Amino acid sequence: MDFSRLTIKEIHKSLLDRDFSARELAMHYLDRIRKEESEIAAFLSTSEDLALEQAEQTDKKIAAGEELPLLSGVPCAIKDVILVEGLLCTAGSRILENYKAPYDATSIVRLKSQGAVILGKTNLDEFAMGSSTEHSAFKITRNPHDLERVPGGTSGGSAAAIAADECVFSLGSDTGGSIRQPASFCGVVGLKPTYGAVSRYGLMAHASSLDQIGPLARTVQDCEAVFDAIKGRDPKDSTSAEYPSSSTGRGLNNAIIGVPKEYFGEGLESQTREIIEKAIKKAQKAGAKIKEISLPHSEYALSCYYLIVASEASANLARFDGIKYGSSEPAPDLLEVYSKSRGSGFGAEVKRRIMLGTFALSSGYYDAYYLKAQKARTLIKQDFVDAFKTVDFIFTPVSPFPAFKIGEKVDDPLKMYLSDILTVPISLAGVPALSLPVGKDGHLPVGMQIVGKHFDESGIFQISGQLEKILG
Ligand code: GLN
Repeated sequence: MDFSRLTIKEIHKSLLDRDFSARELAMHYLDRIRKEESEIAAFLSTSEDLALEQAEQTDKKIAAGEELPLLSGVPCAIKDVILVEGLLCTAGSRILENYKAPYDATSIVRLKSQGAVILGKTNLDEFAMGSSTEHSAFKITRNPHDLERVPGGTSGGSAAAIAADECVFSLGSDTGGSIRQPASFCGVVGLKPTYGAVSRYGLMAHASSLDQIGPLARTVQDCEAVFDAIKGRDPKDSTSAEYPSSSTGRGLNNAIIGVPKEYFGEGLESQTREIIEKAIKKAQKAGAKIKEISLPHSEYALSCYYLIVASEASANLARFDGIKYGSSEPAPDLLEVYSKSRGSGFGAEVKRRIMLGTFALSSGYYDAYYLKAQKARTLIKQDFVDAFKTVDFIFTPVSPFPAFKIGEKVDDPLKMYLSDILTVPISLAGVPALSLPVGKDGHLPVGMQIVGKHFDESGIFQISGQLEKILG
């Protein structure tokens, strides 16, 4: 039996038909991980015992003829910033090197209740700050399409693990592009849900007004199956919403697609532009109406985003003080315990953001920086609200360029931040967006960003699924 690259529905059917057992499937993937990891390094830890125990539960259910949820027995990987009870959760940081999660994140409770098989925890930029996974304190993950290149970030391990066929789907988190950009770089599908669509309970906070957990998978349909399992209101996260059942219900044949001119300007590599324009043409051929639109305030999104993110991160990371969580450096007085533990526990990018954020929030500067950024955010969001009065979806590139070389940007924060220029406006607006592989620049995958109205994930899935078919 060839297990490779089966979709979730195919796995579900095969399990019910007893073509293979969940245990065999789990063993296959654990084997794949052992084989691939010396090159790819997508995982920070594996959880063989848990995976086999979960697989056995699925096999028992099948043997007993019980009803089988769609994700039952399906092997997955979880970004190491989402808590899985009893497993290490490092956030890619030295400060949490030995930290074990005391409970399950809500998204994990939901995956477990369906019977998904958790293979391990994936690599990321420390505390989900970065765009290449190079800011991990532990290892550098390589892009399966080109081992000299980054997989993107911060959910680089989650994207690379799928591209290298080390799991069927994964969970990532996206604050400013961390699901969409690695999905684009690794040629997989990734969804950043509407803010509030998925509970953040048990997700280590980066910037709480932006963070969302979301799925990465090989196909749009797989991505949708995972999203359906984890979405919806959770009393443990007051920002999570009751998921509405409405959708635009528009397919490619009757959708109006907005193409914002500001997202095709300076800095966009010509190959990437061509690939995206071709995909848009295909959508048009399939009956979609294409309309040029303007999102004028997106120009300010990057500076606005990095002020807000740093400010929120500086507050969120205050809890890692060497006392409450993680590693602690002994010192004669409390203040020194704080400074020594944080000094040795955090990496350079995290420290940079804590300092920037603390400064932006400090009295005298708050109005000039943080408050101003929040006002700009409102304008950016309003652009999207206005645009969605006349269009159903918005298409843009995910990243101005395909996967870059390891080491190319890691010493230049500004260059690294510029990778996010096309994803952060969407995060600030809180709308959902999916990265769909639509072509290749040489051997490097290129993703298109399909943006929808608040809570119109099902519309996004419908139109992306159609495009996926057309594009082969
Ligand atoms: N690259 C962006 C940042 O560094 C986005 C990160 C993310 O989405 N977690 O903030």
